[in-house]
Amino acid sequence: AKALGRNTYSFFTKEMNIIMQRRFEIEGQMRGALERNEFELYYQPQVDVKKGHIIGAEALLRWNNPVLGNVTPEEFIPIAENSGLIVPIGRFVIKQALWFLHLWQNTEQKKYTMAVNLSPRQFRDTELLNFIKNILKDKQIDTDSLELEITEGVLMTGQSFIHDAIVEINALGIKLSMDDFGTGYSSLSYLRQYPFDVLKIDRSFINCITENKPDCDLVKATIAMSHSLGLKVVAEGVETKEQLLLLNDLNCDFVQGYYFSKPLPAKQLLELSAAHK
Ligand code: C2E
Ligand code: CA
Ligand code: CA
Ligand code: CA
Repeated sequence: AKALGRNTYSFFTKEMNIIMQRRFEIEGQMRGALERNEFELYYQPQVDVKKGHIIGAEALLRWNNPVLGNVTPEEFIPIAENSGLIVPIGRFVIKQALWFLHLWQNTEQKKYTMAVNLSPRQFRDTELLNFIKNILKDKQIDTDSLELEITEGVLMTGQSFIHDAIVEINALGIKLSMDDFGTGYSSLSYLRQYPFDVLKIDRSFINCITENKPDCDLVKATIAMSHSLGLKVVAEGVETKEQLLLLNDLNCDFVQGYYFSKPLPAKQLLELSAAHK
């Protein structure tokens, strides 16, 4: 039993070592990645369910590193978050996304929205809102064309500077979106406490809506509740026509997902958007 215990122990440390080593390597490579221009934003269109028009897009970060290859945001965002590197990277994301939004709106003379993800650590960047304000002003973009997506993880700490930042975001007219709705425990109470404009239903709920009655009922109730609170609803991860038709019946406002388009590089989104007019 003792030998087994020792083996199990060394097994776990070995596994842990591999994980730690990978994290260490990612963090090391990430340090110079901005300067080396390794990040690129992709944009996934959001579509009005009833009208079928593109109404905007979500900016999603991609990282291609010469040593590590493509690293998924699922892997590198938490490391960027823990190391604080998300602060400069997050500013890059906002700047790029707003530059692109400016180009997109001017190319088509249409008011699109741009959704950008904000993670908890970025709220400790006390100059972030000024940074955003200056770009919006500089590019003459209406504040309500920008939508900031946060998950309940941002609100869970209950820190007062986060509360203040959200009040200011709202006062500026920037939209606030609750991301991954339904995956946490307290999203409902946060909807009551904060001035959200948009609710994004997590794709794990959308996955089975056409086969699974309880999932469908939950999505239906979520949409009805959101509308009674004055929020617009985006369904994430819509992959089939059947899902789209059902979401239309449930009065969902917007959809985002592979059925309409994967996240695309800027140039391809412009092409898709022009073809879709
Ligand atoms: P998220 O904010 O929930 O973004 C949606 C994710 O779902 C994206 O993954 C998108 O590519 C994927 N997706 C969209 N439609 C479909 C679909 O129909 N089916 C399936 N299976 N997946 C779909 P992605 O781009 O890998 O990003 C993963 C997560 O990384 C994001 O989840 C977000 O939490 C984070 N992330 C990405 N970019 C940024 C960023 O610039 N800043 C921050 N803070 N986080 C980011
Ligand atoms: Ca998001
Ligand atoms: Ca608002
Ligand atoms: Ca999401």
